Amino acid sequence: MPDYNRRRFMQTLSMSAAASLGGGFACSKRSAKRSNIIVIFCDDLGYGDLSVFGHPTIHTPNLDRMAQEGQKWTHFYAGASVCTPSRAALLTGRLPIRSGMCSDERRVLFPDSRSGLPQSEVTIAEALKPAGYHTACIGKWHLGHLPPFLPTKHGFDTYFGIPYSNDMDLIAGKPYYETCVKPRSELFQVPLMRDEEVIEKGPDQTKLTKRYTEEAIAFIKNNKKNPFFLYLAHNMPHVPLFRSKNFTNHSLRGRYGDVIEELDWSVGQILLTLRKEKLADNTLVVFTSDNGPWLWFNQHGGSAGSFRNGKGTTFEGGMREPTIFWYPGRIAPRLVQDMGSTMDLLPTFCALAGAKTPENKVLDGHDLSPVLFGNASSPRRTMYYYRGRQLYAVRHGRYKAHYITQDCYGGPHPQLHHDPPLLYDLGEDPGEKFNIAADHAKILDEIETIRKNHLENLVPGEDQLTKRSIPR
Ligand code: MG
Repeated sequence: MPDYNRRRFMQTLSMSAAASLGGGFACSKRSAKRSNIIVIFCDDLGYGDLSVFGHPTIHTPNLDRMAQEGQKWTHFYAGASVCTPSRAALLTGRLPIRSGMCSDERRVLFPDSRSGLPQSEVTIAEALKPAGYHTACIGKWHLGHLPPFLPTKHGFDTYFGIPYSNDMDLIAGKPYYETCVKPRSELFQVPLMRDEEVIEKGPDQTKLTKRYTEEAIAFIKNNKKNPFFLYLAHNMPHVPLFRSKNFTNHSLRGRYGDVIEELDWSVGQILLTLRKEKLADNTLVVFTSDNGPWLWFNQHGGSAGSFRNGKGTTFEGGMREPTIFWYPGRIAPRLVQDMGSTMDLLPTFCALAGAKTPENKVLDGHDLSPVLFGNASSPRRTMYYYRGRQLYAVRHGRYKAHYITQDCYGGPHPQLHHDPPLLYDLGEDPGEKFNIAADHAKILDEIETIRKNHLENLVPGEDQLTKRSIPR
C-alpha cells in the first residue's frame, strides 16, 4: 500500500476505533462554542485540476494536505453547470428552477440585467444570522449587482468583490475570445465593490486573489470571539486568467496552473490563520467550485479529469466538483464516495449551528452531518441535472439517465432528445462512455418514476435572468 494510502487507512482506522469507544470521535472534542463556517468557492475549477484529484502538473500542496486531514468527496455536485444558477443553489439549498435563477434564454446574469436573487429566498447567511453569526461575502457574487440584490441585502454584514464575472464589461470594440486569452485588466471595466459602493472600475486583476485572501484573513481575525460565516467566492480560475507576480511562471501547467497554485496558496493562508488564531478546531472549511472547466478556452480552461465534457453541460464534467471538507478534531479523515451537493450545505450548516432551516420553502438539500461527523452513508441518493429551466438528466444511486444532451460553447449545438434515455453506470463508467440502456429496463423505469414525481411536484419560480434594464 503506498504511504499516502496507508496513512489515510491508519487514520480512518483510528477514527473508527475512537468512534466505537464512547460516543464517537466527533463528540469527544466537541466545543461548546458554535462552529465557524467557511466556504471557499472557486469559479470554473475542473474536477481534475488539483494534485489531490489527480492533476499531474498542477501542484496544490495546501489542498492536498487539507484533503488528507479532512474528507475528500468524489461524488459532489454543483447545483448547475454555470455560475449564476449554481451560486443561487449553494446559498439557498434549492434547485435554481425554484428560485427562478435560471433561464433558457440567458444562462447567467449580465451587467444589463435588472433582477437577481429574489428577496423571498433565504440564504445561508440569513439562516445563520438568528444563531448569532457574523457574515461576510468576499469575491464573486453574480446574484444581482443592483442595490436590492447585493450580498448586504441577503444576510451578509459585509461585501468586498466583483458582483459578477471577471470577463464582463469588456471595453467596446475588443474581440471577446482573443482578449480573454491575452488579457489585460484595464480592458475589463468590472466594478470592485465594498458593501454597496463601487470603489474601483477595472481593478488590477493580478492582485485579486491576494486581496480577497487578505480580506478573508482580516475578517477571521476580527471575528474570532463570535461565530462567523465566511463565503469566499474567488473570481479565478474563470477567464481572463490573472495571477500575481509571485505566481507568474510558477506552474508546469502554464498560466492556468499558476492561477490554481495561487488559489492553493490562498487556502494555505486561510488554514494557517485558523491554526494561529486557535480556531482550527472550531471551524468547518469547505472547498469546492461552482461548475466544471470551460473547455472552450483550451489551455486557458481546466480539466474535468475522468469526466465527460465541462462547463455548461449536464455531463459529469459540467457539475461534478473537487470537494474537501476540513474540520480538525471533528471530521474523521476519509474518502467519501457517496453523493453530496452544494445544495446540502445550507441544511448541514444549520444543523451544525443550531439554526432553523427556512420555513415554508421546499429545500433540495440534505443534512450531511451524519457523513461528516460520523460514518453514516449520505442521505443524498438522487441528483437532478438542469440546463436552464429544463431537466436534462437524473442520477439515482450509481445510475444516470440522460433524457436530453447538448454540447456547449463554440457554436450552435442542437438539443438531442433520447427515448429511451441514455443510461450510464457512474460506478463502472464514470466517463459516461458506455450506454447500457438496452439491458437495464427496470432501472430506467425506476428513474423515470423519480423524474415524473419530481416534475409533477415542482413549482418553478419566475425567470429572473431574462429581465434586462434596457429591454431589446
Ligand atoms: Mg463558473
